[in-house]
Amino acid sequence: MNQLDKFNQSVMKYDLPQGKIYVGGIWKKGGGNSIQSYFPADRTINGELTGANDADIDQAIEYGQKAVKNPAWANLLPHERASILYRIAEGIKNNVERIAYIQTRDTGKTLTETRALANSAAGTFRYFAAVLETAQEALTPSRGAYMTFSRYEPIGLVSAITPWNSPIASDAQKVAPALAAGNAVLLKPSSWSPLVCLELARIIDEAGLPKGLFSALPGSGSIVGERLVTDPAIGRISFTGGTNVGHEIAIKAASRFVPVSLELGGKSPTIVFEDADINMAIAGVLYGIFSSSGQSCIAGSRLLVQKSIYPQFVKKLVEATKALKIGHPFDPQTQVAPLIHDTHRMAVEEWVERARQEGGKILTGGMRPKGEIYEAGCYFSPTIIEGLPNHSSVCREEIFGPVLVVMPFSDETEAVTMANDNAYGLACGVWSKDVIRALRVGQAITTGTVWVNTYKQFSISTPFGGVKESGCGREKGIEGLRSYMNQKSYYIDTSQKPLGWVRFP
Ligand code: NDP
Repeated sequence: MNQLDKFNQSVMKYDLPQGKIYVGGIWKKGGGNSIQSYFPADRTINGELTGANDADIDQAIEYGQKAVKNPAWANLLPHERASILYRIAEGIKNNVERIAYIQTRDTGKTLTETRALANSAAGTFRYFAAVLETAQEALTPSRGAYMTFSRYEPIGLVSAITPWNSPIASDAQKVAPALAAGNAVLLKPSSWSPLVCLELARIIDEAGLPKGLFSALPGSGSIVGERLVTDPAIGRISFTGGTNVGHEIAIKAASRFVPVSLELGGKSPTIVFEDADINMAIAGVLYGIFSSSGQSCIAGSRLLVQKSIYPQFVKKLVEATKALKIGHPFDPQTQVAPLIHDTHRMAVEEWVERARQEGGKILTGGMRPKGEIYEAGCYFSPTIIEGLPNHSSVCREEIFGPVLVVMPFSDETEAVTMANDNAYGLACGVWSKDVIRALRVGQAITTGTVWVNTYKQFSISTPFGGVKESGCGREKGIEGLRSYMNQKSYYIDTSQKPLGWVRFP
């Protein structure tokens, strides 16, 4: 038995969703193009389905519009709506292994990571159920003989468009608050990872969400994505993906004044000061860039190290990188799994080639690892590059793979200038024992998240999002629920007298 067979036999297998998509609460064969995802560890086909076409989207919209107005849903009290979300959370929790298996097959991520993502998705539904049950609407100070208050009401039909890198987590981050807010949701996954949203649909269906309120619509960005952005029935767009597509969506949404949240790309800087705890910094930097094989919007892909410690820090970093275990996603020891797709690996390789041409020095990696297992899949070695200036294209653009550029800086001012000299603003890391300085640096960097002496840690109750080319709007947290609602203000007369402006004859 070869190594691949051994890994394949080492885990419990689950049936992969096949053939049907979930349109307005009905399982049916999509009328659109065929979609085929493969297992990036050995390129075996996961299955075949046909995506949604215009008629399917029409149906999802029609059923969604009806369901959202149906008193069986519209009249539910917050705690009653929350109870459905708790049941979805429970359903996810009971199916963590199945979800993890499907997502690993679809994306090549390690089972360790996909289990964590499935658990976090359950936590997301639980969190928004709790927020819904406890959210309060306050009276506002009155300026006359009336009572004033603002209420949050559902928007109606929400579209959620997600990328391939962490589907169950990004799906949950949109679907949970949008349903909690009382809307119907049309979810479109990436064509490279179409399966896990269908498992989510099965769980949501079993949890008893009224039919029509949720549709899972795999299909191409140009057909399904386009409709979910431009259809006049859609009242709110929630998008996570690349900055180029984000720009297009922002323009289309603006033309209809539709609220949109855009969680886009990043080129996040990580700054290591000379007084940092070196082992903590090395562990954080490596996790920040090489976990998820670098396919993470918040990957700390630009490392700035203070000159006084640069040589010894980089040497240790390279040694620790060489010790990372590149391996099969089913192997519990694996730290760096394959990339999602051959096409994506080629894009990463092109960036490394460009770094070489621009004068960069490859300190480790920069190639496909060699060996039987690796040849079967889309693997790429963790790569560290030095010698490029902050304005080189490799230091400016998102690569979305296991590629780290490292640069020296002399003092705090230069570090902040270099960190800010980039189009993106999603996250940053600061490593220093001087926490006051770390906070000062965090404040000076234009970004959505600052990690101090840690990296890539997340909590569903802490808002997340970017600035500049990394997008706009925030997910998670209490405001994550409000962002899927319309705020409506009420004035209720308390005088019981006609307004004085009119003089009755
Ligand atoms: P893309 O922008 O290519 O695609 C994202 C989603 O948009 C997919 O479902 C895609 O469908 C769809 N899409 C493509 N074209 C259109 C269109 N014209 N209209 C509407 N929808 C469209 O990103 P990737 O899937 O390649 O994901 C990687 C990117 O996502 C990276 O840039 C990464 O930084 C970003 N990302 C950001 C995160 C954040 O929270 N800030 C988190 C995770 C990723 P299809 O697959 O069918 O083309």
